[in-house]
Amino acid sequence: MSAPLLQVQGLRSGYGAVEVLRGVDLEVRPGEIVALLGSNGAGKTTFNHTVSALVAARAGSVRFDGRDITRAHYRSVVGAGLIQVPEGRRIFPNLSVLENLELGSFTRARHHRAANLERVFSIFPRLKERTRQMAGTMSGGEQQMLAIGRGLMGEPRLLILDEPSLGLSPLLVEELFGLIGRLHAEGLAILLVEQNVAQSLEIAQRAYVMENGAIQFSGSSAELLATDRLRQAYLGV
Ligand code: ATP
Repeated sequence: MSAPLLQVQGLRSGYGAVEVLRGVDLEVRPGEIVALLGSNGAGKTTFNHTVSALVAARAGSVRFDGRDITRAHYRSVVGAGLIQVPEGRRIFPNLSVLENLELGSFTRARHHRAANLERVFSIFPRLKERTRQMAGTMSGGEQQMLAIGRGLMGEPRLLILDEPSLGLSPLLVEELFGLIGRLHAEGLAILLVEQNVAQSLEIAQRAYVMENGAIQFSGSSAELLATDRLRQAYLGV
């Protein structure tokens, strides 16, 4: 088995007096899609932010490609290729589509900007048609494409997608999962945080279930689906 690309051990973090993560262990290996599931408020976004160095770790460690990045600056985390597409897209509404994409190559892969733009446009032709449009006037689905496109501009080695299907129509959700499959086929490792549990487990090789800031289950997607209690809690069947 290959060495983990992302290796998180005993990770703790929170906000002021609020402790959110209570010792999280999680791994993503090269080329894997790993689903991170859990109910609202379980701590998934806090996990993403802590791994990305946007929230400080209080204990435990985060290693990326063998390097300890627990106390690294978020820019050097991005520089190493650990790139997050945050929940709610967080595009810059008053910048154009092109400017938003260019910002994705600010910290990493700046010299490959032209080639990566072409690649993003080939994945999302709609963005190519709208380069000059203010990002804030794009539809919700287009903004999600833009957020993912911006993430891809930095040539991620691990892409963290936080609730990418939130607010998308069923047709766009299908498209999104098709895209995730395509990126995976190209060898990209993906940590997928999703409410869309059934579809996520179809595409992910392994999954973690977080509750109350700790991992309650980890295993293959097939194992999760075979566990009655988890199936009932997360799939309602
Ligand atoms: P959701 O699926 O609803 O986004 P989540 O699993 O991503 O949930 P988090 O957003 O990580 O959960 O939130 C975990 C806990 O941390 C919640 O109780 C939340 O209220 C709290 N929390 C999140 N951000 C902050 C903050 N900036 N300050 C204080 N508490 C926060």
